[in-house]
Amino acid sequence: MILFKNVAYLGKKLDLLVTENAEENSTLGFSFDPEDGFHKHCLNYGANYGKQGGRIVALHENIAAPEGCTVLDMDGKILFPSLIDVHVHFRDPGMEWKEDINTGLNAALHGGYSHVLCMANTAPVNDNAGITRYMLEKAKNTHPDGPFLHPVAAATLGLKGEAMAPLGEMAEAGCIAVSNDGVPLISTEIVRRVMEYASDLDMLFIDHCEDPYLARGAHMNEGDLSAKLGVKGQPDIGEALQVARDALLAEYLNIPVHIAHVSCRRSLEEIKRAKARGINLTAETCPHYLLLDETAVDNYNTNAKVNPPLRTWDDVMAMRDAVKTGLIDCMITDHAPHAAHEKENPLDMVPNGISGLDTALTLLWQLVEEGVFTQEDIVRTYTENPGKRFKLPYNTFKEGDPADFFFFDPSIEWEVSKENFYSKSANTPFLGRMLKGRVCAHYLGGKKVL
Ligand SMILES: [Zn+2]
Repeated sequence: MILFKNVAYLGKKLDLLVTENAEENSTLGFSFDPEDGFHKHCLNYGANYGKQGGRIVALHENIAAPEGCTVLDMDGKILFPSLIDVHVHFRDPGMEWKEDINTGLNAALHGGYSHVLCMANTAPVNDNAGITRYMLEKAKNTHPDGPFLHPVAAATLGLKGEAMAPLGEMAEAGCIAVSNDGVPLISTEIVRRVMEYASDLDMLFIDHCEDPYLARGAHMNEGDLSAKLGVKGQPDIGEALQVARDALLAEYLNIPVHIAHVSCRRSLEEIKRAKARGINLTAETCPHYLLLDETAVDNYNTNAKVNPPLRTWDDVMAMRDAVKTGLIDCMITDHAPHAAHEKENPLDMVPNGISGLDTALTLLWQLVEEGVFTQEDIVRTYTENPGKRFKLPYNTFKEGDPADFFFFDPSIEWEVSKENFYSKSANTPFLGRMLKGRVCAHYLGGKKVL
């Protein structure tokens, strides 16, 4: 067992006692319950996870050290349950110069994550069980103790939006969700079929909402700034239209839907309406939609080009509010690494995306320090809600929970730079910024992984 003394959790100074493995669990009477929020695909993921992994014994004031227990003083460090990111891109197979499964999971490990869901727009696309198995195999080989990778099945073959991918074999191989992320689905009939099959297979449909006609050829948000820069913009209504469409579908079919990377007030209005009608709908957003507006691309900064695009400051304010009120359920990075040379072109020629796993928590912590969010907001949106919604193990520091947690040192100052990133790619609009706070120790299943 390990006893961590003087940890800071939700503003209190407490002690944390955990077990490190199954042997210690058995002396405390912890038994493994397969219904315990574990998706069937992660029951035996790591040699030191699930059945085998350490558990939380207690988190409260003044815990006396049991005999033979390791005691560590964590004064000044902030305790978090490990984070779950349900939307990342690891570019493996096929584009490993941007990121591969090993470096992506390394960035996740240092960013505080226990589980990540990997989108299907690899090359070839993850639209069959062979690719799914390749991804899982590589993740297990490079990171046997976690963080754990969960492939997301492509909704359609090649993400082309025409024929449905073989979701049954992909569910069997280990996919826990379905998405056409990166390429919006034009055909409402296809969306309907995907939702029906996904639901039957216990996979959640993650919906990339973008009207492909309104968004065609766009490289930023549509408004005064896009007119000034002479760049074709994408209106916020293009996002909100599909949110509304698919919320209605979800209601009609009585099937759950999860809305990907929400960026604007208009979409939030549709989400609010849907939730008020009782539709089984959840939604996610990323730190960049909470910190930056469209002026980040004012100097044609290609590192701020992302899809959906950065919107207006009014949208940023609405997004922050939606995180506070629970309209937005999950925090994600939409980690989308690209090599430096790929972003060194005119704005209309570069790919969309921001590399996010290295910076997400520190950026959110900055919002906590500014009084915008609380640590509770981060824990709710980045651990508990995604854990519940995607049926993944998560830690609430109750007795018997998986011992997945990390310590954040708020005093570490670091510069956002390629050298300081664990990801292969540092394409981020925060490049060059000095940030405060970083993960300094991480445990998964009670085992120290950092
Ligand atoms: Zn994405």
